[in-house]
Amino acid sequence: MGDPEQGRFGEFGGMFVPETLVPACQQLDAAFREAWIDPAFRAELTDLLNNYAGRPSALTECSNLSEELGCRVLLKREDLNHTGSHKINNVLGQALLARRMGKTSLVAETGAGQHGVATATAAALFDMDCVVYMGAVDIERQKLNVFRMQLLGTEVRSAESGSRTLKDAVNEAMRHWVAVVETTHYCLGSVMGPHPYPWMVREFHRVIGDEARQQCAAVLDGGIPDVVAACVGGGSNAAGIFAGFADSDARLVGVEPAGGAAVGRAVPGIVHGSHSYLMQDEWGQVLEAESISAGLDYPGIGPEHAHLAATGRADYIPVTDAEVVDAFQLLSRTEGIIPALESAHVIAWLSKARHELKGQTVLVNLSGRGDKDVAQMMDILK
Ligand SMILES: *Cc1c(COP(=O)(O)O)cnc(C)c1O
Repeated sequence: MGDPEQGRFGEFGGMFVPETLVPACQQLDAAFREAWIDPAFRAELTDLLNNYAGRPSALTECSNLSEELGCRVLLKREDLNHTGSHKINNVLGQALLARRMGKTSLVAETGAGQHGVATATAAALFDMDCVVYMGAVDIERQKLNVFRMQLLGTEVRSAESGSRTLKDAVNEAMRHWVAVVETTHYCLGSVMGPHPYPWMVREFHRVIGDEARQQCAAVLDGGIPDVVAACVGGGSNAAGIFAGFADSDARLVGVEPAGGAAVGRAVPGIVHGSHSYLMQDEWGQVLEAESISAGLDYPGIGPEHAHLAATGRADYIPVTDAEVVDAFQLLSRTEGIIPALESAHVIAWLSKARHELKGQTVLVNLSGRGDKDVAQMMDILK
């Protein structure tokens, strides 16, 4: 029923790109396939993850929040990674692969700026040139991250087409890549796009799920949690933690913003190189996603999640911005952990579903920290 290594997740996935990019995707597929089974590549990546990014990330038992909600909450602490989220796992993997392929430059897209900052960080570390495309609207909203990227030596270019947000930045980054594909690797930020990206990016994030599985076994006497939950934008942090529990009985839950519920609306279509679910109008034009957290403002979802939803292996549940604002404060107040607004979506679902979850053990992927969001929250709460 579809082979992820061939770019197929059931009926979803594929490689729908302009002809000029087909050889580049095929070359990347071959390079990743070879690197991923090479012990030297794996050892170098593990060394970077441990000694540069700060892995393994902690598993935190939340006694206060558990008492308040009536279910046992365990947090996988991706917020503690260098640059503040899970994104560094994927970026270090891709930068290492780019260098192995002899590429000297990186290009990337970014929405809120988190993936752009992570890519700029890897480019600085590996002494590579880096261009990041960002929607003009997002550049205005996320000035601090623009300056961070510039500090790290990256050129930030404004995407001026369409709605001038993330989907337009992806279009511009792909257009750039076509022109300079000989020297440049496209460092895509989630489990989306053409093959091999959805598969490759999941594999680079699998470390989250593998660590969590072991850490849970230690805490739960060899057991597994009843539920594994993560927020879903493109779906990379969710894919990473789900990968560690795919073969278990754990219920998998992805939490979407109500204003960007690509799975909730379940309309199949092709966007940015793969066949998946996306928000579109009756003419098939891609709709704008809208959410309190810029990091979840993506109108589509990775093909693996479309497949998990279609087959019923995972549930995808929307929460509203107002519920997220409450959850942001709830975790801060009860556990002393200020979450990223994206990650607060999962806490919002826990809070809303507390009756259904009574007595269960829930593993939450805390995808990022909230430093980037405190100014926005200050405006909302004043
Ligand atoms: C980018 C981001 C997300 C959304 O991306 P996914 O690919 O869905 O994981 C979620 N949380 C944080 C903290 C992010 O920076």
